[in-house]
Amino acid sequence: MKEASRCLKCPKPQCVTGCPVGVDIPGFIALIKDKKYGPAAQKIKEKNSLPAICGRVCPQEEQCQKFCLLGKRGESVSIGRLERFAADLERQKGVADPVKPQLNGKKIAIIGAGPSGLTAAADLAKLGYKVTIFEALHKAGGVLVYGIPEFRLPKSIVQAEVDYVTKLGVELHPDALIGRLFTIEELFANGFDAVFIGTGAGLPKFLEIPGENLNGIYSANEFLIRSNLMKSYRFPMCDTPIKIGKRVVVIGGGNVAMDSARTALRLGAESVTLVYRRSREEMPAREEELLNAEEEGVVFKFCVSPTKFLGDAQGRVVGMEYELMKLCECDASGRKKPVPIEGSKAVMDVDSVVVAVGRTPNPIIQSTTQGLETTKGGIIVVDPKTGKTSITGVYAGGDIATGEATVISAMGAGKKAAQSIHEFLIKARQQICAPENAPDKESPILAKSSSSKQVQ
Ligand SMILES: Cc1cc2nc3c(=O)[nH]c(=O)nc-3n(C[C@H](O)[C@H](O)[C@H](O)COP(=O)(O)OP(=O)(O)OC[C@H]3O[C@@H](n4cnc5c(N)ncnc54)[C@H](O)[C@@H]3O)c2cc1C
Ligand code: SF4
Repeated sequence: MKEASRCLKCPKPQCVTGCPVGVDIPGFIALIKDKKYGPAAQKIKEKNSLPAICGRVCPQEEQCQKFCLLGKRGESVSIGRLERFAADLERQKGVADPVKPQLNGKKIAIIGAGPSGLTAAADLAKLGYKVTIFEALHKAGGVLVYGIPEFRLPKSIVQAEVDYVTKLGVELHPDALIGRLFTIEELFANGFDAVFIGTGAGLPKFLEIPGENLNGIYSANEFLIRSNLMKSYRFPMCDTPIKIGKRVVVIGGGNVAMDSARTALRLGAESVTLVYRRSREEMPAREEELLNAEEEGVVFKFCVSPTKFLGDAQGRVVGMEYELMKLCECDASGRKKPVPIEGSKAVMDVDSVVVAVGRTPNPIIQSTTQGLETTKGGIIVVDPKTGKTSITGVYAGGDIATGEATVISAMGAGKKAAQSIHEFLIKARQQICAPENAPDKESPILAKSSSSKQVQ
């Protein structure tokens, strides 16, 4: 309440311009101040369907709070904490089921149940579309369930927000890998009028150094999926094991590296060392995550770059050769370029290694969809204002269209695409209804090839 009272209710609130989905920030804070907690949560949900998640994982210090007027002279209003407070209180009190909107007869397929897909689905359902989400994994949530660990984002919260989306009437098909089960063309053939691709950037990058295939070396994706989604810490009570030993090394400097290091500690590692090839100042992780990792006992080694992994006779990793780096002038990314220091090579003993050096887009849709324009790196090319791809009726957003980014930017892209799909379908309907267009004249979205496969 004290924090909410600090907000100045600025007539031109800069905090809102810093929010990728344009939440009415002074509006919901004023409702908290007046003890109207339910309406405060509803006010956030006008623009953001996943407030309890964003209140926890959004980098607010780089977004809304960065622009807060109070931050210019002192401390910004803790907008993220207030958002989390309102959303948590609403959930604890029990959220009334949203009213299911009346259907308008059009069907939309959403591929991927991450933040971009869930947001697009919720917005389109509210507009009266029959929305179906196809998700490759057995659980909805994308990185929110398989990547970000429980201690940072409780999965019950993600589930509650997924439930909110399904209560709007959105149908969820888990274990449905599009590109294999159906192609995009087949989705149109099955009666969908538009498609949104929100398949994220789930393909891990590797260091590509000798020994990287040894047992005990995980990509961060695999490591976090085993722990978060497959609950491997319960093995043999669950099917998927995880073996980390006593000494774990995590390679990388972003949030994914921090999550991996903190997860390794919780899995029982005696020591977790995080190595990063630049200095602390260049680390892309949020300051909050870095401090938490430090407090929990993760040891940081800066300006260190692995060169080779060493294995035992059974093919299991036992050591990591590395060299020290010095930082020179800035590279293309604007960060100082790390250059090896000659003669600085050494070896450290390790029992397992987690490689967290980045992720690229999931490639299956791109490789099975003719005419879908992509960049060399597999990112789907879209109009940033609309999310429109090179194929009529097909939209994309989130990490698949930008490369790895943030939860809120993925949600913003889902919102934009939902609005564009709505406008596109209205226009298509107007064209069909126009007298000069004979009813048998096919619009691109009505031109559906025949297919024996049917969506159940
Ligand atoms: C470990 C980790 C920690 C992070 N921490 C933060 C953080 O603290 N704050 C923050 O803002 N961001 C964080 N991020 C980044 C953020 O989570 C992503 O930017 C965001 O989730 C992207 O959303 P998305 O909807 O584009 O994709 P995703 O969340 O990746 O969801 C894509 C979904 O599509 C599914 N899919 C893929 N291919 C297919 C297919 N062919 N058919 C059907 N389904 C498919 C996937 O299974 C997945 O469920 C983190 C990322 C990771 C990996
Ligand atoms: S900029 Fe800061 S003080 Fe002004 S309305 Fe936004 S949160 Fe309140």
